[in-house]
Amino acid sequence: MSAGPEQIAHAVARLRAGGLVAFPTETVYGLGAIATDRSAVVRVFALKGRPQNNPLIVHVAGEDMARSVAGAWPARAHRLADSFWPGPVSIVVPRAEAIPSLVAAGADTIAIRCPAHPLTLALIEALGAPLVGPSANPSGAVSPTTADHVRAAFQESEVYVLDGGPCRRGIESTVVSVLSDPPRILRPGVIGADELADTLGEPVEDARGHGHEAPSPAPSPGLLQRHYAPRAPMRIVEREHLADAPAGAVLLAHSPGPFPSALRVIEMPADAPSYAARLYAAMREADGFNPPRILVERPPLPGSAHRDAAIWRAIADRLTRAATPASGDA
Ligand code: AMP
Ligand code: MG
Repeated sequence: MSAGPEQIAHAVARLRAGGLVAFPTETVYGLGAIATDRSAVVRVFALKGRPQNNPLIVHVAGEDMARSVAGAWPARAHRLADSFWPGPVSIVVPRAEAIPSLVAAGADTIAIRCPAHPLTLALIEALGAPLVGPSANPSGAVSPTTADHVRAAFQESEVYVLDGGPCRRGIESTVVSVLSDPPRILRPGVIGADELADTLGEPVEDARGHGHEAPSPAPSPGLLQRHYAPRAPMRIVEREHLADAPAGAVLLAHSPGPFPSALRVIEMPADAPSYAARLYAAMREADGFNPPRILVERPPLPGSAHRDAAIWRAIADRLTRAATPASGDA
């Protein structure tokens, strides 16, 4: 059941008392704490088991609040906010003194975004304060795209969940720094470099280390190689190699069957926006079978002229990280 004014009031009270509230966005559910409340932010890191070198994104209700969180608000930030907010673009700008450096993993920059979900915008407005919001899951695990995913990971005494239904976009925001020349994407998302460049009227450098390439060294703290991962080992496979798969493996397939009968098949949508929206729930479903392995049929990676190129790139980025073996398990 979707939350209303009563649940928002309860969430505001929990946050003002230093508590944590999971909130819906169009990307994934966030684990919220008041961004200026250092001890609440410490609890967010502790509860997630998140390394303190992985910075948090600050969520605001609009550009005015963003200015209060930023040490400076360059013209590029204004242009991006004006075109994409509320929406899945996080903008990296200088950090204001009011934001504890812990939020930014010690950096003097901060990533800020205004999420496109009416419940969460109403929450931030009622609160009158910005919220940190990493994904509401234990660090490294699959991000939550429903309220039930969050409830499965945390107790209601630790985290109050505002239920806003399933997330429409399904993968995390594009993170773009406007402080480098040219501006640079630090984490790919459904909004790609070309769209950002059109708005800025200048080139935008795409993220490095995604898709078919091996991930390159992290250009900023927090770009952990293994991330978004299910419990079962996951591999990206070409369709023609499926015959080698172990019996009982789960296959996430976006093309039509038939597939080897030893596989349990989860059908994925063939179009990029629906694939992205479905991805994390499908990974959880696959894990639910306790399979020896999860296989993902390699999704397309079309050239930049394709309408959905950016979304397929973001999907490839998440799949590559999810399929990175845990250290020690080659
Ligand atoms: P999450 O909250 O788990 O979606 O992750 C937030 C991600 O945003 C981090 O892992 C970084 O990739 C990026 N990020 C957040 N803050 C900054 C920052 N100040 N500078 C650069 N990247 C950032
Ligand atoms: Mg996360």
